[in-house]
This record gives sequence, C-alpha cells and structure tokens, in this order.
Amino acid sequence: MLRRPSGPSLERKLPLLIAALLLVVVAVFCWAAFREERASSVRIASDHLRVVSTTLSQASATATAVRRATLLQIVRDSSIARVAAAGPAPDAAQPVAETTGPAADSARALLARNVARGDSTHEGWEIWSSDGARRLATGTVAGRAGEVALRGAMRAAGRTDSVIISPLYTERGRVFSYTVIPVHAGRHVVGFLAERRRIGNAAAAERIIRELTGESAIVVYAVSRGSGVWTTLRGAPTQPAVDLEPVPATFDAPGADGRLLMGARADVPGTPFSFVLLLPRDEVLRRPMAFLRRMLGIGAMVLLFGLAGALLLSRHVTQPLRAVTTAAEAVAAGDYRKRVPVTRRDEIGRLGETFNTMAERIGASHDELADRVEQSTALATELEYRNEELRAAQDETMRAVRRTERLQQVTAALAGAVDFEGVASVIVREGLAAAEAMSGSIFLLAPDQQALDLVRSQGHGAEPLQGWTRIPLSTATPVAAAVRTGEAIYVASPNEWQMMPGGVPQPPIGCAWAGFPLVARGRTLGAMGLSFATEHPFDRETRALLLALSQQCAQAIDRAMLFDAAVQARHAAEEARRAAQSANAAKSSFLAMMSHELRTPLNAIGGYVQLMEMELRGPVTGDQRQDLERIQSNQQHLLSIINDILNLSRIEAGQLTIDATDVPLAEVFGEVEAMIAPQVADRGVRYEADGTALVVRADREKLRQVLLNLVSNAVRFTEPGGRVHLSSELAGDQVLVRVSDTGIGIPADKLEAVFEPFVQVDAGLTRRTGGTGLGLAISRDLMQAMDGRIEASSELGRGSTFTLVLRKAE
Ligand code: ADP
Repeated sequence: MLRRPSGPSLERKLPLLIAALLLVVVAVFCWAAFREERASSVRIASDHLRVVSTTLSQASATATAVRRATLLQIVRDSSIARVAAAGPAPDAAQPVAETTGPAADSARALLARNVARGDSTHEGWEIWSSDGARRLATGTVAGRAGEVALRGAMRAAGRTDSVIISPLYTERGRVFSYTVIPVHAGRHVVGFLAERRRIGNAAAAERIIRELTGESAIVVYAVSRGSGVWTTLRGAPTQPAVDLEPVPATFDAPGADGRLLMGARADVPGTPFSFVLLLPRDEVLRRPMAFLRRMLGIGAMVLLFGLAGALLLSRHVTQPLRAVTTAAEAVAAGDYRKRVPVTRRDEIGRLGETFNTMAERIGASHDELADRVEQSTALATELEYRNEELRAAQDETMRAVRRTERLQQVTAALAGAVDFEGVASVIVREGLAAAEAMSGSIFLLAPDQQALDLVRSQGHGAEPLQGWTRIPLSTATPVAAAVRTGEAIYVASPNEWQMMPGGVPQPPIGCAWAGFPLVARGRTLGAMGLSFATEHPFDRETRALLLALSQQCAQAIDRAMLFDAAVQARHAAEEARRAAQSANAAKSSFLAMMSHELRTPLNAIGGYVQLMEMELRGPVTGDQRQDLERIQSNQQHLLSIINDILNLSRIEAGQLTIDATDVPLAEVFGEVEAMIAPQVADRGVRYEADGTALVVRADREKLRQVLLNLVSNAVRFTEPGGRVHLSSELAGDQVLVRVSDTGIGIPADKLEAVFEPFVQVDAGLTRRTGGTGLGLAISRDLMQAMDGRIEASSELGRGSTFTLVLRKAE
C-alpha cells in the first residue's frame, strides 16, 4: 500500500517560506536602519544640547566677569566703605537700618548710576557692615529665604575676601540671587555690598536656544548648584530633574510627567550656576520613529509584492510538479499508461519527459516482470512436483539401500559357508534377521520328487514342527504350493490360511506365512518357509526383498550341493587313482618278472641254436641251417620285444634314473652313425649327419638310445635309394635335433597314435621290417624324463621328420 506523506503542500509552503524570509529580511533591515537613525538623532540632539549649554555658560561667565569688574569698581568708592563702617551697629530688632547722611547719599547716587536703564533683573542694592547689620538698601528687600542666602554669601565673601554669588532662592514665585563683594577700609573688610537680582525674563534667549537645537519641544533651565533650586530662563522656579552633583556633561533623566529626558549641563565658571538643557527623548526620537514608520510601510509593500510573486512562482513550479506527482501516483498504483502533459522546454518540461520515458520503461518492465513471475510460478510448481517425485525416489532408494544392506549381510554370511550344512544354518539364521521373520525352515525335494524334507529350521519349538518334517507336495501349505507353482506364496493372516483351497486345518506358529521355491540353474532344489509374528501386508518392497533372499538361498544351496558333490567326486577319483597305481605296480612287477622269466629260456634257445649252427651237435644240412637262422631271427626278435617291454615297464614303474650331463651332440651323432652303419648298408639308403658344435643337457645313454631308435625307424621305413638325414638347430635355450627321411610317411591321423605302446601303422610291413611297436613309446617317456619332448610330422609317401626338443647346456 502506498503511503502518502501528510502535511501542507509545496504550493502553500513555498510562498509562506519566501514571505517569512522576506519578513525577516525587511524586519532586520528596518530595525538596523531605525537603530542607526535613532543613534544618529540622539547623537545630534546631545551635541546640540552640549554646544548650546556650553555657549550659554560661556556667555553668562563673560557677563558675570564684566559685572564683577563693575562691582569691584563700585566698592572702591569710599562712600560705600563709609556707609558700611559708619555708626553704631543697628540692633537686631531693626535689621534694616537706613543709614543717612552724605556718605549714604553719595553711595546711593553711585549705586543708582550703576543700574543700567531697562535692566529688569536688578532688584536692589544693600550695604552691610562686617558684623552683619544692613546699612543701606535700595529697591525691595529680600524676605527670610533671601536673607539666609545673603548671609551665607557674606560669610563666604568675608572668609575668602572675594566676590561671591549666592545660590538661588525663591520668593513669591520668583527666583533670586545675591552677588556679594567685600568692602575694604584700608586692608580691613568693613562690610559688604550686595546686589539682588531676579533670574530674569530671558524669553529671547530661550527662543534662540530653541532655534539652535532645532527642536520645538525644548525646555531650557538655569540652575543653581547647591541650593537645589531650578528655574526656567523666564525666572519661574521649577522642580529639579536630577541631583546635579554627580551628573556628567550629558545625561538622561526622568521628566516630571514621566517622560524620559535627555540632558546636557554646562557650569558657569565663577558662579554656583550651571545651565541645564533638557529635551524629552520622544521628541528626539520622533524623527527616527517617523523614519521607522516609513520604512515599515515600504517593507509591508515589499512583503506584499514578494508574497504575490512567491505565489505566482510557486504555482509556476508546483503545478507541473503536481501533474508529475499525480502521474507518479497513478503509476505507483499500477496505471502504467498515465503520462504527464509536457508544455514547457525548461527543467520541469524535461522532468515531465523523463518521467514519461521512465513510466514507459516501468510499464514495459512491469509487463516483462509479470511474464517472468508467471513463468517462475509455473517453474516453481513444476519444481515442487519434481521435488515430490525426487523425495519419493529418494525414499524408494533408501528402502532399496536398506534392503541391499540386509541382503549383503546375508551374502557375506553365506560367503563364509561352503558346504550344505553351513549354508543351511546361515540361511535360517541370517535370513530370519533380514526378513524380520520369527521362524524359518529349509526343505529339500525328496529323491522321489513327491515330498519336501525338512533339513533345517529355526525359531520353532520342537512341538509345532513335529508334523512338518516331511510335507507331501500335494498339500496346500505355502512351501508345497511354492514348489508346485514355482512361485512365491504369501499368506497374510490366519484368516487367509483358513481360506486356502484344500488348506491344512492347523497352521504352524505365527500369524503370517510365506513359501518360496528354491530354484537354481533351472532345477527346483526345495523350498524356504518363513513365519511372521504378526499379520503381514507383504507390500511390494517386502516381496522383492524376500524373493531376492530366497533366490540367494537357492543359489547358495546349489553351490553348497555342487561343492559337496565335487568333494565326493574328488574322493572317488583319489580312490580310483590309488587303485590304478597299485594295478600298475602289479602290472610292472608282472612284466618285469615275466620278461626275466622269458629271457632265460630265450637265451637258452639262442645258445642251443648257435651250438647247432656251429655243428657241434653234428652236421647241419642247408635246409636245417636255414631253419636255424629263422629260429635265431625269431629268438632275437622276441628278445628285443621282451627288452623293450622291460624298459617300458621300468620307466612307467618310475624305476628310471636320469644322469644329466653336458653332452656334445657331435659325439652322440658319431656313435649313432657307427652303430647304424651296417643297417644302412644293408638297406641301401643314403645316410647323412650334419656336423654340429651344439652341446645339450641330457643323459648321454638315453639320448643315444632315442636317436638310435629314430634313425633305425627312418632307415627301416625308407626304400633303398632313399635318404636319411640327421641335423640339429639352436632355438633360444633349446636345441632341436631332427631325424628326417624320404620314406613311406605316416598318415596324419596316426601321428599321435604311433607314440602309444604297440601301435604300428602297418603291422605286416613292420613285422617285415622288424619292429615291436614300443620304440616311440619308450623314446617319448625317455625324453620326458630328460625334461624334453619329441614331435613328429610327416607326409604320406614322401617322408617323415621326428624332432627332439632338448635343453641347451649352460
Ligand atoms: P616299431 O618297432 O614297430 O618300429 P615304433 O614304436 O618304433 O615301433 O614305431 C611304431 C610305428 O610307427 C611303426 O610300426 C611304423 O608303422 C611307424 N613308424 C615309425 N617311424 C616311422 C618312419 N620313419 N616312417 C614311417 N613309419 C614309421
């Protein structure tokens, strides 16, 4: 919500502010000007008062000095002294005793002469004796106050022997003063001449003074010091305005009517008089006050014009501002189309334009923002939805992880068990924990495939399982049904158990049950049964876990069975091997014994034939000799067979001892060649043996025997004119010895078989060539005994090559 600041508008505040400012300026200016004017007026008035009073006092002093000189001249006249000193002192009862006589007349004449014609202020002369008796008086005589003033002045004159002017005194509404001059007779003061004067009618002087000060309301006073009597210049007594003693030359004093007065005083030298000029202060201030009024009038005008100007100015400034404000408020309230009318080209016009541009941008931004907000809201909803999904997925993952962990525990435990017993006990123990079941059983399918036999169970007491050691497959128990259907069977509650088609009436312990077929490699091994303490909903996760558990169990049982079978097979094989070994030993000993037994009569046959050939028993005919040769030949053949059999049986009986030495091949080649030479010559084949420097590690006798056999075969199975070749070659740390011929060759399918005992390719042919079929078998065994081997390659009709692979001597 938009909050508007409350308070007077700028349109009102601005002119008020300007007016207040103007007021302050005008007031300060007026006050300063008034102060200046007032100070100047006071100064001028004060100056005037001072100048006038000083002038007056100077004029008065001059006049007094002139009069004093006149009076001093008068008292020198002897008539005066005589009047003063003459006659007896009048008594006190008649203080004014007119002196008569010539001296008095002369004195009177003198005194009369010294009164100027038209002198209106002179009241009369008096001559007094030094002891205080009036000797002569002209004009009016003073009353009581005048006499007090006169006597005071005479005492002072007597004391100082100088002219003394008495203080002023009043009498009958008039103001008077005495001038007293001591009268000498020789060097002695014999009396005093006193002139009584009224403070006269000085209207002209007053007018002049007024003109001088330039003020109409001026009041001028002549003042007597000491007496406290003040008088106007016209001679009227007046109330003293101040005590003159401590007052400076200019001063302020309260007037009789309460008005404040400005004053200036000027003492008249040689007299007790001072001139005091008083001027009412408001008279002095009249001009500054008038000036102030004028100023205020002008100020008021200025203020009025200023206010009007300020009003106009403020309207000029604030009206467009108000337009901008109204538009801004509209924008703030959401009306972004509001614009300010721009009619001016100054700053305010620019403000309006700027505002319009701003409002336009704000409007655009607002629209954009609204779009974004809409998008954001949609995004937030989408995010919320995704979040929900994610949470669900996370929960699912967590459950899966827990499941996996439990299964892993089972797997780890199963890994430690190899035989069936171990596996079965691990399954019921760990499986129960993983499945959170109260009891579990493992059944194996009976050999007749008709029933399940209990092999392991846990969690049951002895009692409830008594009827469950053998479960015919036809029953509707979960385990039997699982094996029949090949699927897991879940019974969630005792109620469900009761409702099973053809169910057994009495369920085993627990409130929920499950049966799983144990199937491995496509073969049903048995079943796993689980019981749960409470009714169980068997939700999707639980089923997945139990199924995985049962599959793991099936595999473990299969593996354990295989293991057990393998162990049994190994035992059987061991048994067979031992039997074969003893049979072989019997055979070898039989062959050895038989060979030995056969050789003795054969040797006897040979001996007797030789006796007959040598005709020691009588003459032998040609035919007989031929028969004898045949007998001898067969005897030799038989003997060689028996020797070969004997050799072979010895080798196979492990009675062969190998004496390995470094054997130079060239030597063995030489021996073989010497031994075979008659047979080669007889057969009419070409025999070639390559020269060689190779040395092999072998048993010399055995190697020669093998080579002799191979070369003998080659000669025998090569037609006359053919070629038998003996060669050798170094291949790494092995030496290859080759016996090749250009004989009849061996069929490819017989190349392996010829190494077996008594195997001959062509028995008839061999018999002709004289063979037993044992030579290659013996050769192979000998080569193996010497850590070597024998290989054969052949091409039928073109020849054969037998290769011996031997170790090279170090
Ligand atoms: P025999 O005593 O029969 O020669 P051998 O074990 O030495 O016994 O040889 C087995 C058979 O291998 C021979 O009977 C013969 O058929 C075949 N045989 C061996 N060597 C050769 C050869 N160089 N050329 C052709 N056949 C051969």
